[in-house]
Amino acid sequence: MKILFGMVGHESSTFASDIGDFKRWADAGWSVGEEIFGKFRNTPSDLGGMIKAAEEYGVQLIPAVAVMNAGPKLTKEAVEYVTGEFTRVAEERKGEYAGICLSLHGAGCAENTDDLEAYTLEKVREVVGPDMPITVSLDLHGNITPEMVGLSNGLFGCKQYPHVDMADAGYLAMKTLVRILRGEASPQTAVVQLPLMVDSLIGNTFSEPMKSFTDYVADYAAKHGLIDAAFFHGYNFTDVPSVGASVVVVAEQGAKEAAAEIAGHIWDMREQLKGECPMPDVAVDSALDALHKPGTGYVVIVEVSDNPGSGAPGNGTHLLREILNRNLAKTIFGFISDPEIALLAHKAGVGGVVSGLLGGKIDKISGDPIELHNARVCALSDGNATFVSPMMEGLPVCYGKTARLRVGNVEIIVTEFPDGGTMDDRPFLITGADVTQYDMIGLKGLNHFRAFFQSRAKAIVATDPPGSATCNLGHYNYQKIRRPIYPIDVGTTFSV
Ligand SMILES: [Zn+2]
Repeated sequence: MKILFGMVGHESSTFASDIGDFKRWADAGWSVGEEIFGKFRNTPSDLGGMIKAAEEYGVQLIPAVAVMNAGPKLTKEAVEYVTGEFTRVAEERKGEYAGICLSLHGAGCAENTDDLEAYTLEKVREVVGPDMPITVSLDLHGNITPEMVGLSNGLFGCKQYPHVDMADAGYLAMKTLVRILRGEASPQTAVVQLPLMVDSLIGNTFSEPMKSFTDYVADYAAKHGLIDAAFFHGYNFTDVPSVGASVVVVAEQGAKEAAAEIAGHIWDMREQLKGECPMPDVAVDSALDALHKPGTGYVVIVEVSDNPGSGAPGNGTHLLREILNRNLAKTIFGFISDPEIALLAHKAGVGGVVSGLLGGKIDKISGDPIELHNARVCALSDGNATFVSPMMEGLPVCYGKTARLRVGNVEIIVTEFPDGGTMDDRPFLITGADVTQYDMIGLKGLNHFRAFFQSRAKAIVATDPPGSATCNLGHYNYQKIRRPIYPIDVGTTFSV
């Protein structure tokens, strides 16, 4: 038995002010054919899980293409190219494979579609018809639609945030597909879209309140013998009708009723799903307080509103400016993405100096540019690294030309590419900086960085200044989302 597989993933922000062409989409990697095995086998990724299941079940895989990134809304050309490359392989190898297993994201959109996943599945169905089994693995931040359910034979989401269980979702998608093809399973899939936007700040499934929600869904699935049940938090930084949390259940029977019951429980507890977050001045004060408490280790300050992993450009300056204004001792900021300054630093060389405007060049609301006057170039790197975060361990990453600069007491890592933001200590280490030698670490992220830093940092403090990925929903001028929706519309009601 052969199965066609691949990944067409994008988390698309309609609020970022740049544009997602193919180059931007593929800057976190574009893999074709057999190289997919070399890159993803034995990694904690969706594709790693799919490969593992296929090998365990003795299934041969036909690899198509693989791309996954976050960033601004995609261009039509980029979508046509990537889906076209997938369907080209599907067409060429038609007749060889019995089913398709796809890693999608769930929150992709483009100039020509508000639902990249349904669009991709439609394109695939045009090649293989309505009857071929297709299973899909998805990110917890997917905005899941009934169209996605209708075009597939099972949607499987990861459950943890940070997403340390993506391989489990990929594994289950592949395993269920094999069981369908062998005639051992014939599952139904149901989605319930909640009129609810979950605050990403409290999305961390390893701490309360979210841990209890995650545990409830897992317990419910086990107790009721479901093949899978997933609480999708949704992706708020985009203006499309599907924005919002949802529950997806895959089961031999009763999927609809189970999804409704789980969704009802989440709805009843919705007040817990709101968060709040201070501006950088207050956050830096809190970080200093935490640093001066007994204990050892560094304190992390995370700027959530310019998180490249949420689709923001990673070029904002609000937190960095506050840190520079205070000239905090033993402090490193890693990183801000600014290709101009990174290239200037490479021209100047180690020991040279750089002057010019740093950051604030893409999203104007993310802070004005910072004027650098003879910032010292401490170290340079080509930006190539291998993740050590448990979420992406073993996968390659390239931040492009990278520099470590010094301004007063503060060191700043400047990269060419935003590449999903800081996941672990690799952006620091590639410039020779050992994070354990600092008191304060500034970075851009939301929750994924916690997979590495939570157990190592003395404390983590978040700040949410203006930015294209702010968690402050009042900032966004939504035009297309479903209304009413909680908590924007306080009186929203829901019944299933
Ligand atoms: Zn996610």
